[in-house]
Amino acid sequence: MDKRIAVLSGDGIGPEVMSGAVCVLQAIADCFNHHFTFEEGLIGGAAIDEYGTPLPESTLKLCKESDAILLGAVGGPKWDSVSNHIRPEQGLLGLRKELGLFANLRPVCAYEPLIHTSTLKKEVIENVDLLIVRELTGGLYFGKPSERRGTNKELAIDTLTYTIQEIERIVDKAFQLARKRKKKLTSVDKANVLESSRMWREVVNRIAKNYPDVTVQHMLVDSASMQLIYRPEQFDVIVTENLFGDILSDEASMITGSLGMLPSSSLRSDSVGMYEPVHGSAPDIAGKNLANPLGMILSASMMLKFSFGLDKEANIVEEAVMKVLIEGYHTTDLNLQHGTQVGTKEMIDKVIEAINENQAISGIQYAYI
Ligand code: NAD
Repeated sequence: MDKRIAVLSGDGIGPEVMSGAVCVLQAIADCFNHHFTFEEGLIGGAAIDEYGTPLPESTLKLCKESDAILLGAVGGPKWDSVSNHIRPEQGLLGLRKELGLFANLRPVCAYEPLIHTSTLKKEVIENVDLLIVRELTGGLYFGKPSERRGTNKELAIDTLTYTIQEIERIVDKAFQLARKRKKKLTSVDKANVLESSRMWREVVNRIAKNYPDVTVQHMLVDSASMQLIYRPEQFDVIVTENLFGDILSDEASMITGSLGMLPSSSLRSDSVGMYEPVHGSAPDIAGKNLANPLGMILSASMMLKFSFGLDKEANIVEEAVMKVLIEGYHTTDLNLQHGTQVGTKEMIDKVIEAINENQAISGIQYAYI
């Protein structure tokens, strides 16, 4: 298979974790005779420094012409000044909007070797396997400053806007995903207060009629945030709007023990998608070989599955990550009492070793398929 992949490393630890994704994908390509072309583009703070804008035309063009996009992380204190109106995050938001990537998928599961690293009790998290489906191109984050959002010295306004079509497409996507999993969908809103949430709920109830095999539950966001740490195993697929999804997915990340473990994908209706770890640019550890690359590597695995339909290859990456964790290798964020602490580069090497070992054992079976 021939695929063109846009590589947007971004800022902070972005380039360090990105090298893990690219090396792992190259190892998979070598094992399975695929040909992946990696082309780099600037985004976020790195692009502001070079071009004065967080999303240069050349990066947008590259992304539009690619089969999938890998993104590290953007942002950092260098570009954080309150008076600075050009911010790295605008690059990411702009890219999502320009490419129409409306569905953000964030899987969260408890990895057996990491269960005791979570601050939550073992019995609360051991069976967790949930998927947060977050609407990504509407809501509060896209209130336009000049038209719908303004600030003066005494007033700041953010506008939460959703069209019925924006809600329909994300809700339908979530139903499709729930149908392939445990067939349970929890729709999270704030329908007791927000008009947009009441419309959201009506849409969910209407689309539910097309999926009679999927059980639907509505939950207010405040209750959902409580249930997520009280009984997280009750959830299968959670669908929600942009802001609620952003907050709930960071909360859910604590189930895995570290933000550094969590992958995500941002999809639209065709196979093109953008894949990035849930974490940010972690400026406190950037350039120190301390970053956990597994969230980025697992994002690359999601790319193999969702954009390229390479489920077997994706499973091999996931198995390699699991093997490395079972063997006790971990970066500092994982706070393990035993095992071997390694840096970013060593962790990447261990995952590649595990992929190659897997291939050596079952190489003949895979090499000629
Ligand atoms: P963060 O996710 O960057 O870091 C939070 C904490 O988690 C830090 O202590 C960090 O060291 C740790 N951490 C994060 N990823 C890790 C990893 N892979 N391995 C080990 N430890 C890791 O969040 P923050 O500190 O709130 O934000 C820092 C910058 O990142 C800000 O500029 C913010 O705007 C930006 N940000 C970007 C994205 C994105 O690009 N998608 C997402 C969130 C935040």
